[in-house]
Amino acid sequence: TGQAGEAFDTAELQRLDSAHYLHPFTDHGALRETGARVMVRGEGVYLWDSEGRRVIDGMSGLWCVNAGYGRSAIADAVHRQLLALPFYNSFFNTTNVPAVRLAAKLAGLAPPGFQHAFFTSSGSEANDTAVRMAWRYWQLMGQPQRQAIISRRNAYHGSTIAGASLGGMDAMHAQGALPLPGFHHIGQPSYAEHGRGMSEAEFGLAAARWLEDKILELGPERVAAFIGEPVQGAGGVVIPPATYWPEIQRICDRYGILLVADEVICGFGRLGAWFGCETMGMRPDLIAFAKGVTSGYVPLGGVLAGERVAAALIDKGGDFNHGFTYSGHPAACAAALANLRIMQDERLVERVAKETGPHLKARFGALAAHPLVGHAESIGMAAGLDLVRRKGATLHDGEPFARALAVGMLCRAHMFDNGVIMRAVGDRMIVAPPLSMNCAQIDEMIDRIRYCLDLTL
Ligand code: PLP
Repeated sequence: TGQAGEAFDTAELQRLDSAHYLHPFTDHGALRETGARVMVRGEGVYLWDSEGRRVIDGMSGLWCVNAGYGRSAIADAVHRQLLALPFYNSFFNTTNVPAVRLAAKLAGLAPPGFQHAFFTSSGSEANDTAVRMAWRYWQLMGQPQRQAIISRRNAYHGSTIAGASLGGMDAMHAQGALPLPGFHHIGQPSYAEHGRGMSEAEFGLAAARWLEDKILELGPERVAAFIGEPVQGAGGVVIPPATYWPEIQRICDRYGILLVADEVICGFGRLGAWFGCETMGMRPDLIAFAKGVTSGYVPLGGVLAGERVAAALIDKGGDFNHGFTYSGHPAACAAALANLRIMQDERLVERVAKETGPHLKARFGALAAHPLVGHAESIGMAAGLDLVRRKGATLHDGEPFARALAVGMLCRAHMFDNGVIMRAVGDRMIVAPPLSMNCAQIDEMIDRIRYCLDLTL
């Protein structure tokens, strides 16, 4: 159970792990050589492994433990709910108390116009649901030919077949018949990668117009929706210029296309507002969420439907033939309610906007002076830096990508060995710590990161 001081047989756990456990996104041959690190306990922003070593968690687990570890209020709420009613479905004209309360709670936290929630167990299922809702919407509106979905290269939207099709990760597409027909991709709004010769503002407009080009190529009457994260997370914390999303919005409005915000990472405070679309100037029709809604304590995701889609789904009638056994799972919804209460009581979102986010920006931004680092930028509690070989050059100035990947992996390994978790993504290193991390802990995290960058030099 990972009580403090409890002893674990790490070698035996690693042997069993290697013998029986298939991990997500893992090279098992390589893992067999190193053995997995066995994590056993968390408290606040710290984790402990089976050898008793402490690390500061710069990734909130996987962008999800927004309220931090060890929250007994969430555990107690789940415990109470499991004893009262561990499961009942919401299919056949039934409902359950935590699901009702959570849907109403989310309607209060979401941007204006979002009064309805559909629940799933993950972000991938949330995005599948958003696609099914978009298709159903256009059927109900008498335009069933609107089926094309446009997304962006380098995007991550999940690992189901639709999630991986929405995603723009070549490595995922290469391992199957992906993307599915009807899923199209435009470039990501990465100024460092594509913005040469333009101001940031000009580049934001130019990158948004790639969407218009794609819509015109496909035919506007065939396009159902455009999906994007307000700030691409797993793609490397790619922060678009301020002109990007308002122009995307204008284009979606012009052609009547649904805008889907994938808020699986950005939602629930990550960018300093409850939802990333508020920070980035988007007015989406659908919001996909997961992760931070429960701080990862119990799996839960979903889609918030804005007025336009909700009105069609509800008022035009007929079944929406979509749903999961665990849609609105009582224990997951109870965890979410307890988590959101903590976030509100501790004003975590406001703290990110006013205190911890600005502190992270100053401390993380200063890493740009390090010889291995090109740009270092952050927004709220998400930050990313480019690894470069020659100071002043970016990888896109001819630096070999494969080398950056190796440097990133080496750097990540140093971090893991030196008590901080940071993630390597292509030529970038990223952090997204719990929103409960305080300024002194941010300092500790950055000091450790700097030390590991030095070790990597
Ligand atoms: N969308 C985004 C933006 C994500 O970052 C992720 C996961 O990292 C997903 C969707 C998929 O969520 P899940 O892993 O819960 O299926």
